[in-house]
Amino acid sequence: MEVVHEAILRKFEFLKGSLIVGKAGIKGYKSGEKLPPDQYVPEAHILHNLVRGFYKPAGKPYILSYQATESSNNYGEQIVWGDENRSEFSRIELAPPNKENDNSRKSDITAARYNFKNNIPFGILHKVKKGHNRILGLGIITSERNDGIFVVEPFNYKDPFHTLKELIKDEEINTNYMTEVIQRRGQEIFKMKLLNDYTECAICKMDEPSMLIASHIKPWRYSSNLERLDKYNGFLLCPNHDKLFDKGLITFTDEGKVVISSLLTPKTKEILGLADSLCIYLENPHKKYLSWHRENCFKE
Ligand SMILES: [Zn+2]
Repeated sequence: MEVVHEAILRKFEFLKGSLIVGKAGIKGYKSGEKLPPDQYVPEAHILHNLVRGFYKPAGKPYILSYQATESSNNYGEQIVWGDENRSEFSRIELAPPNKENDNSRKSDITAARYNFKNNIPFGILHKVKKGHNRILGLGIITSERNDGIFVVEPFNYKDPFHTLKELIKDEEINTNYMTEVIQRRGQEIFKMKLLNDYTECAICKMDEPSMLIASHIKPWRYSSNLERLDKYNGFLLCPNHDKLFDKGLITFTDEGKVVISSLLTPKTKEILGLADSLCIYLENPHKKYLSWHRENCFKE
């Protein structure tokens, strides 16, 4: 698989859960135009050509991405959802076009088999409605059923820990060094995920990107690999607010209301902009991490 295609797969994983409105974010504004290089993909590229469900890059034997629809006119209902918000799938029953005279039917099937045989994951978009696509991350074909259905399951392509361990084959390598490399890379990915959703400190709205810190709610050292990269296990914060949160001098209720440690003096509270009325924006998945923070980090 080409480097640029692998980068596109990474991008799918980074964008998991995002809703893209219009075709510009998927294949560029005009036909023939592409998306410019970005932080994920070093070349002009497209995520999908929006022509049919299967997207096979020209001249390549594999599917790079798949647009799942829930309409019955070609591919039919096929997504088994993993959560009520329909941001995650637990399985997709991917049916190639059912019309025998569809010219691309054969090449779609051949490409899907190629992905299956060679364990090549692909990006998945869900067409929520016309012009609205949600990125569902990556999937991999785990079987081809007798009725022609390819069963697709979620794929964690970029567990960077796993990949780095594979990449670093030198057995002489110092374990501490390796742990450090993995942590640094993990932090970068985590920050990118937060920067995708937010542009400013969640508390004071400071918005200088080079100073913003991707602050874990449940700290790195206590988190599982999945939790370490879960965008809901974090806030984007300025250095002062990151430190306060990290030291357990502030925390938040499930409603997002600030709870301030009694260790802070009124002067410090004022300087750091900590009013008792302060409230931050939260989503549901933040709550389990915040409850951990209140229990284990917060210093009353
Ligand atoms: Zn701040």
